Amino acid sequence: MKVAVVGAGPAGLAFAGRYGDAEVFEEHLEVGLPRHCTSLVSGRSAQAVGIPARLVLNKFDELVVTDLEGRRIYFGVRDKVYLIDRPGLERWLAERVPNIRLGEKVTAVRSGYVYTSSGRRYGPYDYVVVAEGSARKLSSAYGHVVRLPGLQVDVKSDVGLRGITVVYNQKLSKAYFSWIVEIDKGLYRLGLADTCCTVDKLRKLVKLVRGTPVGKPFGGGVLAGPPLKRLVEGRTILVGDAAGLVKPLSGGGIILALRSGYAAADALARGRPLRYEEDTLATRLRLRVAFAAFRVLYGERLVDRLLAVLNGGDYVAVDYDDHLKTLLAAALTDPRAVVALKEALRYLAGNRDVLHLL
Ligand SMILES: Cc1cc2nc3c(=O)[nH]c(=O)nc-3n(C[C@H](O)[C@H](O)[C@H](O)COP(=O)(O)OP(=O)(O)OC[C@H]3O[C@@H](n4cnc5c(N)ncnc54)[C@H](O)[C@@H]3O)c2cc1C
Repeated sequence: MKVAVVGAGPAGLAFAGRYGDAEVFEEHLEVGLPRHCTSLVSGRSAQAVGIPARLVLNKFDELVVTDLEGRRIYFGVRDKVYLIDRPGLERWLAERVPNIRLGEKVTAVRSGYVYTSSGRRYGPYDYVVVAEGSARKLSSAYGHVVRLPGLQVDVKSDVGLRGITVVYNQKLSKAYFSWIVEIDKGLYRLGLADTCCTVDKLRKLVKLVRGTPVGKPFGGGVLAGPPLKRLVEGRTILVGDAAGLVKPLSGGGIILALRSGYAAADALARGRPLRYEEDTLATRLRLRVAFAAFRVLYGERLVDRLLAVLNGGDYVAVDYDDHLKTLLAAALTDPRAVVALKEALRYLAGNRDVLHLL
């Protein structure tokens, strides 16, 4: 079977490396660049998908949720969080992919043919795997996924924060959150996603931590879901961000991109592409529930109320980048949980429509 892949990110490369005989189109001249991602993954998941230890740059076991105005919840992270070398991840995946057409931006896919901005037409292909990431130019025809502009910058700072800091403060992000990750001693990656004004807000965050930028700001679209209902439409297969396969509460999608690429390749190699949809059904259901939580926690800023209720707490985080699970676990191990639960129920009673998102 002749297969084309649009995009040489983790999803497209995982697919092509596992499938073995695919032609990959990548708009940039080098895989993994330009950078856009914070590059945090759970240690357990990184090991499960076989990310090599040499790509792990740092490990964290602390997470603080704060508004940077005095409220603060501390989490010890049970399963360490890894900061990975993201361009290195793509380079490593690309070692197993012999056929990558770099500098070829796909502009359309029609009747099994791939059209590129250089005016060429390739194909025909039996299947086209769309792995274009959060740009979602081709994949938007298959369903809507919430996308927020995300921006970050690395800074030197003596702020003294340890590990990962998640900031819920509407002055820095009204629709999502901002983050401060200790990359190395005195070196931090600051970032945020929001519906508007990310440049000004990032500047504010840099000022708050008395940071001196090292390097230029970088970023891209942070997706919040929901995952698409169909991942196989005729001869088109959608993987990774293109399929909305991201954690709605954190925007994390590296592991899901790898897993979806592998699952799609296995299904296609068996000649049963629909098996890919079946194999990802449970994950997609979980992500839809998380998407409903995203609407409640961030859309209605329930997260700010939870932070106020649980202020000062010290907990164990079950899953660092599943903020819902983390906050719920905190709530359930704290006597103040009753207050937190009442907040949630009061919200749901007044906003029953969010349940329809499931
Ligand atoms: C600011 C920010 C921070 C993030 N932080 C984290 C994090 O800490 N942890 C985490 O797990 N996730 C994070 N993510 C999400 C993560 O980066 C994505 O989920 C992941 O990259 C998805 O992989 P992908 O292969 O689907 O898409 P991508 O990595 O975006 O790869 C898509 C590839 O397709 C190429 N492409 C796009 N359109 C075309 C076209 N038309 N023709 C040819 N090539 C094309 C692109 O150049 C790119 O190489 C973050 C995202 C952002 C924006």
